[in-house]
Amino acid sequence: MNWTALVLFIFVGGIGCALAQDQDVEGVSRRLARERAGRISDVRYDLSFTLTPGAPTVAGEVRIRFSLTRTNPLLLDFRQGRVGAVQINGVTSPVVLERGHLELFPASLKRGENEIRIEFTSPVAAAGTAIHRFQDRDDGGEYIYTLFVPMDASMAFPCFDQPDLKARFKLAVTAPRSWTVVSNGPVESVAEADAEQSRTVFGETQPISTYLLAFAAGPFRKLEGAPGMPSVYARASAAERAAPELPRLQEITARGTRYFADYFAQPFPFPKYDTVLIPGLAYSGMEHAGATFLREEAVLFRAAPTRSDRLRRDILVLHELAHQWFGDLVTMRWFDDLWLKEGFAQYMAFHALDSFEPGENVWKRFYESTKPAAYAIDATSGATPIYQDIPNLQDAKSAYGAIVYSKAPGALKQLAYVLGEEMFRDGLRLYLEEHAYASAEWNDLMRAFERVSRHSLSAWADAWIRRRGMPQVDVTWACRDDRVERLTLSQRGIPNAGDQWPLAMQIVLDYGDQEPVRLHAGLNGRSMNVGAAAGKPCPRFVFANDQDFAYGRFLLDDRSREEVMRRIATMPDLFLRTLLWGSLWESVREAQLDPRRYIELAAGALPHETDETLARSLLARVTTALRRYVSDETRLQLLPAFETMAAEQMTQSDSLDLRIVWFRALQDLAETPVGLGQLKNLLSGRLWVPGIELRMLDRWNLVTAIIAMDDPDAPAIFNAERERDSSGDGLKYAYAALAARADADSKAQFFADYLRTDSNPEDWLEQSLRPFNSWNQSELTLPYLQKALDALPQIKTDRKIFFLENWLDAFIHGQRSQEARDQVHRYLDDARIDRDLRLKILETVDELDRTVAVRHNFPD
Ligand SMILES: [Zn+2]
Repeated sequence: MNWTALVLFIFVGGIGCALAQDQDVEGVSRRLARERAGRISDVRYDLSFTLTPGAPTVAGEVRIRFSLTRTNPLLLDFRQGRVGAVQINGVTSPVVLERGHLELFPASLKRGENEIRIEFTSPVAAAGTAIHRFQDRDDGGEYIYTLFVPMDASMAFPCFDQPDLKARFKLAVTAPRSWTVVSNGPVESVAEADAEQSRTVFGETQPISTYLLAFAAGPFRKLEGAPGMPSVYARASAAERAAPELPRLQEITARGTRYFADYFAQPFPFPKYDTVLIPGLAYSGMEHAGATFLREEAVLFRAAPTRSDRLRRDILVLHELAHQWFGDLVTMRWFDDLWLKEGFAQYMAFHALDSFEPGENVWKRFYESTKPAAYAIDATSGATPIYQDIPNLQDAKSAYGAIVYSKAPGALKQLAYVLGEEMFRDGLRLYLEEHAYASAEWNDLMRAFERVSRHSLSAWADAWIRRRGMPQVDVTWACRDDRVERLTLSQRGIPNAGDQWPLAMQIVLDYGDQEPVRLHAGLNGRSMNVGAAAGKPCPRFVFANDQDFAYGRFLLDDRSREEVMRRIATMPDLFLRTLLWGSLWESVREAQLDPRRYIELAAGALPHETDETLARSLLARVTTALRRYVSDETRLQLLPAFETMAAEQMTQSDSLDLRIVWFRALQDLAETPVGLGQLKNLLSGRLWVPGIELRMLDRWNLVTAIIAMDDPDAPAIFNAERERDSSGDGLKYAYAALAARADADSKAQFFADYLRTDSNPEDWLEQSLRPFNSWNQSELTLPYLQKALDALPQIKTDRKIFFLENWLDAFIHGQRSQEARDQVHRYLDDARIDRDLRLKILETVDELDRTVAVRHNFPD
């Protein structure tokens, strides 16, 4: 017996037991996935669906061909649906469907090629399924589309639902003749199936993961754009609204495709690329290979957009496009490496945009849209590493969040800084080349970087990928005779003080009216002296993360902080100014800086702030501080000045983008009768924002704000808007607006709705969660906090990926009291819940913990 045979023997011996365990386990466990990947290869699916308008199910048939090296019992994954006739290798076979698995018995299987044919039906519904129905309330049209990530392909058809069993899919969809069907492959043929239906057959795909298969069917229109540009589809009733957005959408897609093909040195990996706009899609976008779905609302703005909103949409388009290489061409072996696709797609989207829009300060935007969100989660005791342990795919939904979408891109920016842009690019090229149309893990990527750079990255990867938390970097400095005598960097870990990270950063020494000095520094231990600083003229302040290359909490030392607070409003360097405002806000959240001082500082700076996104984030922080961190008395004392400022800037600012930003701020802040009166005037047309026409969501947001404040005119205003806007989206926004009513019966009704999967579409519920938990109604909603926590296991099972996070955010952040905080922590102490849910609660309650701490430290 040689070594290989021995290993095989032991492995086979273990399988009977493993399979018995897997049958008892719902979902797809890592053990099951490993076992299957070890003996299954060359998977091909011939898959057909018949879509019937209005029917609660679709009928389907699948022929699965694959090669087996061992014939012990084999599990296929299939949940929710029903199975009809099953043939295994030509013989009709009984199968058992239990706990989401179809068990295939060894007697019917053989080594080498196998073929299984299964007839099945799967459910179609507005929510809680993998095959979704969208009923267009504008024109009565019906749309059916799939959304399988992370493991819902097996809710639609029997399959091996794990990312590393890539397969070639040949899909046929029979649907009403007036429908258009889009899928991953190009259309091969469309033929009449009967008098009313036609059958669309798609070309076989390259090997792709099950979660990347998709189709969308319905009376879609292919939008007429310039010849040779990528195709975009929209529902019939939205086609007209989509037309003005089409040129930019196509342009950014076409430029992005060229950019990535060149950067990755890999041509676009699939035969075609379509974009389909899906109303109410659960995510902003989903990167199905060759057929990206984008949420219609993320593309066709329901509220008047600013320049930054449009750039954010470009980022979304580029993110999904980058996935065609990072995620679709090379796929993570398991969802523990989700960051491999999400972190890169996000980082690469900014990389591409920076090359297209060099004047847009793209890396400042990168900071604004990723870092604060990442730090807010990474500093909590619920944070996970970038690499996340996922024992079963049914826990994979919990892997989605700020760590993979915001921290991972931040860590990659740091890595690109450490390796240098060229080495970074060459490492990616090597990785994509070596694993094309296959799966890979994070260490494959690290090895690629190590090979091109000849640097060991094991310490870097251990700290940044395998360990949770982040560094806090402190600077101490002293001058003598107007020269820097010493400048020291030190770090401590958050939340574990003992942890250390390898760091590279750029330090800025600021002199006010003279040119600043910028120094590169690495920090590989607990602390180090920055020798290059010695002898430089004594600065007025020091900031250690200039240009945001490093990832971590960078607070200002006391002397620097006072100087920055004196001068921040007039600092000319926009990127630095943005970073310093961010750093000061971290000090507020650390309960070190009085929130009132931040509010007052912002009040002085905001009327002169000309940068749209900085103004927007300052206003958001002011709103948070007013509502959560200071007392009601202080809020009511400071608020009127902001209402006045918002109303003035909204009408008088020179910049259209700033007028929109201030309009939204007024909407968010208005609380006094004067402020609310202005919201009413905006709705009635007595007051307007010069240069923009309010869109439907702008109007509904105004209505929702008025309802949330329990204004006596609210019922009449609601009814008038309801009359005015009878569109399908209008119904959704009206539903959400009603959730803001300060009324116990109404809250009870809404909450009951949330727990039913047959109630309203998921995006309706999601839209209403924040109004339900309006900041000024915490007493009314406190009784639902416990109920919302109790419902988490159900939410995790029934809802799409981001719903759970939004749910927790809305219910926990609707509170600010010690009592609410204690309730959540008592729940954590007592409840027996899955680890991933526990971590999500810990992540979310951190902001409530901070709120209580800030209010305690600064009782004003
Ligand atoms: Zn993504």
